[in-house]
Amino acid sequence: MDFLQPTSWQEALELRAERPDAVPIAGGTDVMVDINFDRSRPGALLDLGRVGELREWSTDDGSVRLGAGVPYARIVGDLGAHLPGLAMAARTVGSPQIRMRGTVGGNLGSASPAGDAHPPLLAAGAVVEVESAARGVRRIPAAEFYTGVKRNALGADELISAVLIPSAAGPQQFCKIGTRNAMVIAVSAFACALHPDRRAVGTGIGSAAPTPRRATEAEEFLAGELESAGLWESRGELPETLARTFGERVAAAASPIDDVRGSAAYRRHSLSVMARRAVLWAWNDYRKAA
Ligand SMILES: Cc1cc2nc3c(=O)[nH]c(=O)nc-3n(C[C@H](O)[C@H](O)[C@H](O)COP(=O)(O)OP(=O)(O)OC[C@H]3O[C@@H](n4cnc5c(N)ncnc54)[C@H](O)[C@@H]3O)c2cc1C
Repeated sequence: MDFLQPTSWQEALELRAERPDAVPIAGGTDVMVDINFDRSRPGALLDLGRVGELREWSTDDGSVRLGAGVPYARIVGDLGAHLPGLAMAARTVGSPQIRMRGTVGGNLGSASPAGDAHPPLLAAGAVVEVESAARGVRRIPAAEFYTGVKRNALGADELISAVLIPSAAGPQQFCKIGTRNAMVIAVSAFACALHPDRRAVGTGIGSAAPTPRRATEAEEFLAGELESAGLWESRGELPETLARTFGERVAAAASPIDDVRGSAAYRRHSLSVMARRAVLWAWNDYRKAA
């Protein structure tokens, strides 16, 4: 197995085009597991660890450009104010060792329905930036990036350069259910974001459908109810019945399966509970911020 080590983004793109048999590797926390268990034996590894551009983040015009290779530990440490939902999710990933190595680019590359970065990216309205040497840059909304179980919209000659995520204009929440508190793959997960600037609600469901997905009908329902009751301006209390109905609509948007981690029925039920609680927490934060 060849080990390719580009030191610049341009070189990485050229190697990606020249060596279709090469598997990109960032933190390696998914790739190395597959190799160790003999589930994959690529002709080459394309190590992105020396490409400095991938490990940077910046803010511009109300959004964060998060390099694909920024590890979770830095998201927790640096970006809690800009990206609270993603930082909450990052805090739940694996162990400290995994959070030092693992990246959002790797989570997107693996595109597991259980990946913890996906729900907050969906709720925030993130866009995935990908690039190839021949065709240049493409920007793909996160909601269109996941195309099937562990499949994504990335072309064979493309690499993920960054994720563009609007800085939070309102409170965000992330909830995850696992069989224990740490080092666990989500049985189900949910993220929500309040966008008072455009009077919208964002959601993301994890581990309860073939791909991470939004609960768009629930989003529109809640935003409409908040609007018609004048709650965005008054910041009045969120009626419990409204939060409960929102939770039920989020659960209805899922299409979970029974597997070793949980039953489809449990996943649906847990989603309705997480969505109800998360939106109440987020709304109470919105009221307190007045
Ligand atoms: C013990 C353990 C615990 C874990 N716990 C969690 C958890 O709680 N939550 C969770 O979501 N995940 C968890 N994971 C899975 C893993 O840590 C995450 O999916 C992580 O985000 C992968 O990032 P990485 O940089 O290590 O990716 P890698 O393993 O380097 O790569 C993963 C995939 O992405 C591709 N890739 C990486 N970077 C790019 C790029 N720039 N462009 C194109 N393709 C790219 C690779 O080719 C590969 O297909 C765990 C893993 C382990 C081993």
